[in-house]
Amino acid sequence: TITVGVLALQGGVVEHINLLRKASSHIQSPDALQFNFLQVRTSAELSQCDALIIPGGESTTMAIVARRLGLLDPLREFVKVQHKPVWGTCAGLIMLSEQAAATKQGGQELVGGLDVRVLRNRYGTQLQSFVAELDLAFLGEGAAPFKAVFIRAPVVERVIASEEKEQEQEEEGEAGSVASQGKGQGKGAPVEVLGVYRGQGKQEEAGEEGDIVAVRQGNVFGTSFHPELTDDVRIHVWWLRQVVDATRHGSLPVVADGV
Ligand code: GLN
Repeated sequence: TITVGVLALQGGVVEHINLLRKASSHIQSPDALQFNFLQVRTSAELSQCDALIIPGGESTTMAIVARRLGLLDPLREFVKVQHKPVWGTCAGLIMLSEQAAATKQGGQELVGGLDVRVLRNRYGTQLQSFVAELDLAFLGEGAAPFKAVFIRAPVVERVIASEEKEQEQEEEGEAGSVASQGKGQGKGAPVEVLGVYRGQGKQEEAGEEGDIVAVRQGNVFGTSFHPELTDDVRIHVWWLRQVVDATRHGSLPVVADGV
């Protein structure tokens, strides 16, 4: 049995579990593989998980609740020490970033793991929510566009270069443990840009080269949008396959295969 948790402090939890259930029926395995989907609110529950989704919601609130429940350090351990597969959607992507900038609010505690800086609320308020069709090459050649739902969505403003990280780590010296913020994958896996939003009707808002809305770095995957609010299982299937590989072989495939 592979146990996949969804962090259930706040936000869109049930939607992910429903789509995970649906997606799991698309995964064929010769040995009657079983999945268990678990809502995670305690570190004991987290320790049962082989993989985790951090859902959308409101990342400041999520971080405050996680701190209060003593979950921040166990989460950092899960992501950065155990290197288990983790996927953050929207607020979850913010939680998994090493740095966050906000249009209004200031700093907040993060789990980290992705060597990126996110910009929160990139497209404005709830009322400016929108759906856009994205071409996601990782879903396979010729895959139909994915209807991406953006709700007060963050985007990846930039990737943090490894020289910057080294410098930061030198300055921190031995003081910064793995549990502290500011150390993603170290010199490990590179940040891969897996999805870009180029405007479609919001051209004026997306930068010239488009906004980065899906990234992966080793075991950590993040999307600005909410696949769990659609009935399109493709990204959940794609991710679950990586979870299966990582759980069985202890590593994630470098090249994504189609769904
Ligand atoms: N804007 C929210 C935040 O900053 C994220 C929105 C969402 O998850 N839909 O945390």
